[in-house]
Parts: sequence; C-alpha cells; structure tokens
Amino acid sequence: MNLTSPESDPIELIRADRVSLSFPAADGGVFEVLSDVSLTLRPGEIVALLGRSGSGKSTLLRLLAGLLDPSAGSVSYRGTPLAGANPGTAMVFQSFALMPWLTVLDNVELGLRGAGIPRKLRRERALAAIDAIGLDGFESAYPRELSGGMRQRVGFARAFVQQPDVLLMDEPFSALDVLTAENLRAELISMWEAPGFPTRSICIVTHNIDEAVLLADRVLVLGGAPARITAEVPILVPRPRDRRSPTFEAAVDHLYALLTGQDKTTTRSGGTPGPLTHPLPAATVGGLAGLVQIVVSHDGQTDLPDLADELAFDVDDLLPLVDAAQMLGLLEVEGAQAFLTEIGWAWQSADIQASKRLFAELAVARAPLVGTIVRALEHSNEGALRDDFFRDVLRRAYGADDAQKQLDLAIDWGRYGELFDYDADSGEIVLTELAAGFTELLRGDDTAPGGEPL
Ligand code: ADP
Ligand code: MG
Repeated sequence: MNLTSPESDPIELIRADRVSLSFPAADGGVFEVLSDVSLTLRPGEIVALLGRSGSGKSTLLRLLAGLLDPSAGSVSYRGTPLAGANPGTAMVFQSFALMPWLTVLDNVELGLRGAGIPRKLRRERALAAIDAIGLDGFESAYPRELSGGMRQRVGFARAFVQQPDVLLMDEPFSALDVLTAENLRAELISMWEAPGFPTRSICIVTHNIDEAVLLADRVLVLGGAPARITAEVPILVPRPRDRRSPTFEAAVDHLYALLTGQDKTTTRSGGTPGPLTHPLPAATVGGLAGLVQIVVSHDGQTDLPDLADELAFDVDDLLPLVDAAQMLGLLEVEGAQAFLTEIGWAWQSADIQASKRLFAELAVARAPLVGTIVRALEHSNEGALRDDFFRDVLRRAYGADDAQKQLDLAIDWGRYGELFDYDADSGEIVLTELAAGFTELLRGDDTAPGGEPL
C-alpha cells in the first residue's frame, strides 16, 4: 500500500530517538559526527535527508539500517529497538556495490541471502524484480558488461527483491549521468505510486536540492558539526512535479537558503570565530575569482539555484565557493540571492597586485586559519614554522583528512595573497617580507582571530 501523501496509519516504521554517533579519532579522542538526531519515518512518505558532503548523511542512514550502533540514543523499527541489522530495511548504495564475479541474477538473489527463503522462490522473486526494473534479458550478464545506469538498476533490484518495508537509498543517482539519473528517478516514482509496491516508506540521502524537491514529501536538512537536523521542510508541490512550477522553485529556493545560511547559525561551538570553530570552505582562490566574475556578469546579483543550473553544477559544487566568498566579504547572501559587495566589486576590478593585496587583507582579517598562521609566523623565530605544527592542532578538531584539507586551503589562500611561502619538501611555511608586521598594520592584533563575527 502506498500513496503519494502520508497514510492516516499512525505507525512509525522507523524512529531514531536522540541518536549521537562518534568515531574514534586518530589522536585517541573521539570525533562526533552526529549529535542528538531524532526522526521518524511513517508509512506512505518519501523522506529526503539533505546535507552537504561530509555532513553525516550516510552515517545517519547506516544507523537507521542498523549497520552502525549509536553512541547514544536508540533506533527502533515498528516500536522495537534494533539489535543489529534493521529487519525492515533494504539499502541502495551510490557505488552500486555489486559482486563483479556474479551474474545479474545472482547479484539480485544475494539480496535474499540468509532470509530463509527456498531456492526456487528466491529465483522467482529475483526474476520478478529484474523484470520490474527493466533488466529483462540481462539475467546472465556480468556487472562489467553493463552501463552505470544498468548497474544501478541491479542495485535497485537487489533491494526491491527483499520487499522491504522501508527502502534506504544513499545518493543512488549521483554516480549516473544526468539523463540516466532522471530516467531512474522517474521509474522509482512510478514504481512507488503503482499499486502493490510492497515498500511503505523511502528514505533517500542526497546533496542535490532539486532531487530532494522532486522526490520527497518531507526534507530533513542535516548540518553543523557535529551534525543535527537543522530544518524540516514539507514539500507540498503536487505530483507529477514540474520543475518550472512556481511552487517547485520556491521550495528549491527555500532549501537553498537553509543550506547557505547554515554556517552562520551552526558552528562547532559558537563564540569567537577561530580556525578550530570556523573551518575554511573548500574553495580555491581561482574558484573564488571565477564565482565573483560570474556574479559580475550578472550585474552583481544572481539567484544561486539558477546559477547552479546555468553552470550544470550541483549545490555541492557551488556552496563552498559561496561560503568562502561570504567569509571574505566578497558576496552577501540573502535567501537564495547572492549580491556582490563593494569589496567584491573592488577586488574584481583591481589590477593583479592590488587584488592580491586586498585578498591578503581580507584573508588575514576574516579567514581565521589564515590569520592564525600569519600571526603565528610573526611571533616565531625567523618567521618560519613547520606545517606539522598547524596540522597537529587542526587534527584535534577535524580528524586527519579534513585537517590536511584545511591546511591546503589556507596555504592556497595565503600564497595567493603573498602572505607566506610554502616549501612542500621541507614542510616549512615562511612569512614573506611583504607580510611581516602585516597584522599590526591592519590593527587586527587586539581583535580575535577572524576579526568580526561571520
Ligand atoms: P556524508 O554522507 O554526508 O557525505 P558521512 O556520513 O559519510 O557524510 O561522513 C560524515 C563524517 O564522518 C565525515 O567527516 C567522515 O569523514 C566521518 N566518518 C564517516 N565514517 C567514518 C568512520 N568509519 N570513521 C571515522 N570517521 C568517519
Ligand atoms: Mg555519503
């Protein structure tokens, strides 16, 4: 039984109750990915978990599937707390996760392994699932013989064959080309709406706002570090959904604003902006300059979802650039509209030396990690420090991979502004002559790192 609007059935299929999850960190401490997350999945609804890359979406989905145990809180299926894998769910992965040495039929049957179903019935159900998802005739093919779209159909069939109460999908379309993805989305919806489809709720993880609005009855926005649910948005656009309808566009704009507004409202700890609480957004100076140029070509103002469309970008591609431009004061964002600031105009019209100088000033004053590195170099002997020093400090807050990313970003920004040089072989970061005494010059020394609140 499935409808496009939630049934009146009061049952909660899955409930996550104040769930937190921490991973052990390299330094022996813990890295908290999710904090105090509560949600319910009810019969008849498709729920999207929307968040940026690295926000903890896959982790949350694995908790719902019972593949991970929460560090605190609990997950229950139809009122019963999970002990191990959630018996009511099947999962579709982004990466297909097929066994290369098994045929399509065997891969699909794998979904029923351990379910105590007689072999003959297993085969029948696998064939039916293969048929339903348009793989008829490919039963004996191997994954390597299939296109990405066909492989993901196998991934779908392997989940459908289990006839799960709740289907969990982790970015199932993001590894596919645009047309294939759009086709499969449409097929998913038509299966969901067809009478007799056994699944009663779908929870889909995505970083794609457009996809969330197209598919979901309700969108849960995940954000912050550690992540929590920062917003819940019902999608009331009537089906079949038309991307060009005003209600569709309004929903996209609303979610866009929620995602771009996140950094201001959810930081690691609030308080004074510093490199451990206000990470640099993942944007290179080249990328930033490109974004600013594009906004200039739109007369200094643009609707961000339209811009993403125009460039055939995902929100994931654009948001870090927008965040970085906001951090540096080059852009202001209101709702889904981005405006070039006076500083932004000045930066893009300056000659190369002046633009480097302006960038250096902005980065020292507004990008906490860049400011911290410059100040630390100023106070060190000979204006030089090993990169390990910063990496070790950052690692405590971010984990090893993200610490390295933060350092790489700061070095990119600092080098462009000619604040410091970096020798990758020796690992030395060296203050340039230009930058020596720079912070006093800016009179930024008595203010906190980062200057003003972001
Ligand atoms: P998303 O799916 O939203 O991109 P994930 O749930 O995969 O995000 O990851 C969220 C955060 O948790 C990331 O910072 C990631 O590095 C971290 N993380 C995920 N799995 C593990 C793990 N097994 N051990 C340590 N950290 C992890
Ligand atoms: Mg993920």
